[in-house]
Amino acid sequence: MVKYCPTCNRSSQDFRFYGQFCEVCSIKKMEESLPKRIEIKECRSCLKIRSRHDFLPKNEESLEQILKERFSGYDLELLFADESKAMVRIIKHTPDGPLSAEKELGIVIGKTTCENCARKAGGYYEAIIQLRGRQEKMDKFIEKTKKFFESHNAFVAKVKEEDNGFDIYLSDKKLARSFISGMGLVPNTSYTLYGMKNGKRLYRNTYAVRI
Ligand SMILES: [Zn+2]
Ligand SMILES: [Zn+2]
Repeated sequence: MVKYCPTCNRSSQDFRFYGQFCEVCSIKKMEESLPKRIEIKECRSCLKIRSRHDFLPKNEESLEQILKERFSGYDLELLFADESKAMVRIIKHTPDGPLSAEKELGIVIGKTTCENCARKAGGYYEAIIQLRGRQEKMDKFIEKTKKFFESHNAFVAKVKEEDNGFDIYLSDKKLARSFISGMGLVPNTSYTLYGMKNGKRLYRNTYAVRI
């Protein structure tokens, strides 16, 4: 039986139909149901942008990931983006087949402060690596530590010179532990109680490392 679209009267002999509506009207309806712009939260200090679980370096890949999270009922592909807009292809899967549309989304940047930068500003640390050894090796170790922590969305709070080495203050104790293990080192670990949170004791870990 030939169908006619109730909106535009196109016929199912000439156009694909999705439910009672023709393809053209179905795509239009889908486009209209989508938001025209979306707000992305950006850290005013490190300029990373917020995804559902984390702050990510700002690039097309992270923007696409964030858009995919926002349009969770659809397949989404980022075609193009600049500071104020993103062009995306959006596909909705329906019982009558996939509906695909290209859409321009306005991007509004909202400023915030990520947890990392807030902690950094507050002098937060969870672990200290007490590094002892030869100067040259220690310099390299400190550089590697900084790179490793930055690439894992964490940070080196400070590096303090001691009589016979350096104390490296770190924002994440688990990450500190896995970094040391990854370097093939076995630390001497000690724990210092520094506070309580929700009835739980909070410890800072000190890892003594000789290289
Ligand atoms: Zn129509
Ligand atoms: Zn930040």
